[in-house]
Parts: sequence; structure tokens; C-alpha cells
Amino acid sequence: MIKTTTWRPDTCDCEVEYDWDTETSEDARVHTPKQFNRRCAPHQALSEQMQWGAVVDENRRKNIFEGIAVSLPRVGKDILDESGNVVERGFAAGVRFTWSFDVDRSLNVTLSGITVPEKSQLQTLADNRFGLGKVIIK
Ligand SMILES: [Zn+2]
Repeated sequence: MIKTTTWRPDTCDCEVEYDWDTETSEDARVHTPKQFNRRCAPHQALSEQMQWGAVVDENRRKNIFEGIAVSLPRVGKDILDESGNVVERGFAAGVRFTWSFDVDRSLNVTLSGITVPEKSQLQTLADNRFGLGKVIIK
């Protein structure tokens, strides 16, 4: 069955409706943009196809980077449920993650509470994953 979801990413002010097929497994699922309800200032000059690509890319980049950061031993920690099972990774106590996109749509990241070597390790991991200048750790 084709379902429509309204998506408001946390990485910009766009709002997009997209279609997806409930019969397709989650990893093989294709999200097809259907309608742009709102176009944020940085994305409004793009064609709809480019806008969709940019919104998805920026949202994924932020989420994937966050996943890379919390995977580091001292930067992240396991979050447990009441039974002590690991349910997800989160930031360790004392680590604060803030981010924004600049005019060039580079992801600018501030991670307070991490060491200089951890910061440079994360910058290298981000550069390898996304390319130079896509994630800038301040
Ligand atoms: Zn946008």
C-alpha cells in the first residue's frame, strides 16, 4: 500500500509530503517526494528535485554524524532500558552537541566536553564519510 507521510526535518524549515510503499522492506524503501508544502529560505531557489535531494542529504548528514560521534567510547554512552538492555547510544554526561548549517550548507558542529584528539578524530571520520568541508567541527 502506498502511504503518504508529511516530513518536517529538524535540519531546515522545509515541509515535504512523500510517498512510500508499505510492502517494501525498510532498507529497500524509496521515498518519493510528492508535494512541497513549505520551502525554507536556503532551499527555495532550487528545483523540487534538487530541494528534495538537499533536504534529505542535510538531514542524513546530521544524523549520521551524530551516530559517528556517539559511537566513540568517551563521547557517547549506552542508553539502557529498565532491564539493563542497550536501547541506543547517546552522548556521554558532560558532552554537548549543537549544530547548524551555514550559508554554504556545511554542517557546523560544536561538541563541548570532548578532547582535542577526539575532535580531530571526529573531523577525520566526517571528512572520510562526507568529503571535505561538509562537516566542520568548531
Ligand atoms: Zn529546506
